[in-house]
Amino acid sequence: MRDFLTELGIEENNSGVIIGDLREANGEVIESISPVDGQLIAKVQMGTAEDYEKVVAKAQAAFATWRMVPAPKRGEIIRQMGMLLRDKKAALGKLVSLEVGKILPEGEGEVQEMIDIADFAVGLSRQLYGLDIKSERPLHRLVEQWHPLGPIGIISAFNFPVAVWSWNAFLAGVCGDSMIWKPSEKAPLCGVACQKIDEQVLGDHGYEGVMGMIVGTADPVGEKMIHDERLPLISATGSTRMGRRVGAVVAERFGTSILELGGNNALVVMDDAKLDLALSGVLFGAVGTAGQRCTSTRRLLLHKDIADEFLGRLMKAYEQVPIGSPLDEKTLMGPLIDEQAVKQMQDALAKVSEQGGEIIYGGECLSGDDYPGGCYVKPAIVKAHPEMDVVKDETFAPILYVMTFETLQEAIAIQNGVQQGLSSAIFTESMRSAETFVSAMGSDCGIANVNVGTSGAEIGGAFGGEKETGGGRESGSDSWKAYMRRQTQTTNWSEEMPLAQGIEFG
Ligand code: NAD
Repeated sequence: MRDFLTELGIEENNSGVIIGDLREANGEVIESISPVDGQLIAKVQMGTAEDYEKVVAKAQAAFATWRMVPAPKRGEIIRQMGMLLRDKKAALGKLVSLEVGKILPEGEGEVQEMIDIADFAVGLSRQLYGLDIKSERPLHRLVEQWHPLGPIGIISAFNFPVAVWSWNAFLAGVCGDSMIWKPSEKAPLCGVACQKIDEQVLGDHGYEGVMGMIVGTADPVGEKMIHDERLPLISATGSTRMGRRVGAVVAERFGTSILELGGNNALVVMDDAKLDLALSGVLFGAVGTAGQRCTSTRRLLLHKDIADEFLGRLMKAYEQVPIGSPLDEKTLMGPLIDEQAVKQMQDALAKVSEQGGEIIYGGECLSGDDYPGGCYVKPAIVKAHPEMDVVKDETFAPILYVMTFETLQEAIAIQNGVQQGLSSAIFTESMRSAETFVSAMGSDCGIANVNVGTSGAEIGGAFGGEKETGGGRESGSDSWKAYMRRQTQTTNWSEEMPLAQGIEFG
């Protein structure tokens, strides 16, 4: 085992079930193959339906204790997790790179995001405020207070294999919930590594079982979770296809869900934009993480007066993007997650000309000694029009569809003309254009940026999107409320029994 894997507690064979002293899985063994070189990193044994039952029982037992721990004390435990993550930042960042193919700065950036959310959660643990409401009845006190929900379920995608878990786990943790995490089966080692970090801290304080993990596929583990009435909340991050199923099943049993699903994010460049800024924003948004962020820039909308110049500069910038091993510090774009993702990219590109578009740059699969494992591609730029079906879909790969417009209203209509509603951006020097774009008649997305690309959000704001992106919000602001239940409480400290609305009864 490589040193950094040992530091994270990764062994050649790992149990995919970790919650307190329960560390035995009885399901199929999956091999975590690195997209960087096609080599085996380590194996993980998945959990079965029976293992799942044991995990839920542990999480339920832990909840009974954890919900009564004062929130600031829970915050202190999350603070210690943040400290341990600081120690392990380099190792965990490298594992993210190796297992999902992100370049090292992005792998470490993801761990930094975990540290940031831990800090945020610590502060939050002293700010889970309710409301003091003025009662219409004399000598009555009317308040709203917030209680923990119970054991919750977290289902995460491969492309943010550690940060998305922490968005959920650290907030839910300070809110007093216990939790069961099903990481993506495409990034199980990231799950094992995070779980060992949180278990170490929880174990030191005698709170084993508050955060549990079970690696498994959609069926049986994922399906068991979403049907499970013992999990009042399911927070699910992944494709719209997955969210459509999760949302329906959880709603059927009157559970709640936080759905963080696919995006189809547009970046608008106006004729008065600072083109250098816009170019950097597009490059990071479209090529960064090999186009495998939910916020990746997928559609580039150019004002017709700057379109040719901007596209020329963009193609030159694309030519200079070093593609290769994400562990090499010169690399800016690593591989896609697996060969299936490469195929999906090729399938989308194959439809371009029949739908009236034109590939004007890249798109090829890369092979040879510098590109082992079969997952490296050249990012593609496509001249497109808004009505093309491929443009309306999220293909989770570095394909940038370029379209032109004449007026801001036209650009906003194109931006809003897809089913997804996650992230959007405008580059302009005009206050009026910027304010229009972020106003109620502007972008319909959960995220609308001005002179900032579509990709790379800070943890302080609520993160999520509208329409087929699912409507959920995670991370900062008041997203914590989704992890708690609200209780309205009236106390009568008078010696009378007045009814609300002045009703006289008997
Ligand atoms: P995916 O939908 O294939 O899988 C995501 C997770 O859902 C996995 O853990 C998977 O096992 C699980 N799952 C699938 N079907 C399930 C079911 N029926 N019941 C329970 N669990 C089920 O997504 P992926 O390929 O891992 O990730 C890429 C997708 O995630 C993209 O669409 C991307 O936009 C999206 N994503 C969204 C956000 C966001 O915050 N909006 C963040 C990251 C990724």
